[in-house]
Amino acid sequence: MKSERFENYIERIVREELNRFLEQDRSICRCNKCFQDIMTLTLNNLPPMYVASDVGHIMTMFNLTRDQVRAQVMVELIKAIEQVKNNPRH
Ligand SMILES: [Zn+2]
Repeated sequence: MKSERFENYIERIVREELNRFLEQDRSICRCNKCFQDIMTLTLNNLPPMYVASDVGHIMTMFNLTRDQVRAQVMVELIKAIEQVKNNPRH
């Protein structure tokens, strides 16, 4: 069930970090397809965290700090970027 008051917190972090990667690494393809592929691959390997927009609440719920979530996202993101780089579908 999708509600405007809920969002996948992980998805937001992945998007933020991916944009950072794209700024720093010019060898990553910037087309929409590759962006979506990287997002999907990364999210498939991470547990979804649907939460009310209150970020403090989710951290308590999952017993993770913001840094821990981000570190986990980075690991999966790097793997996904490599995979898409080696095998682009565009
Ligand atoms: Zn591409």
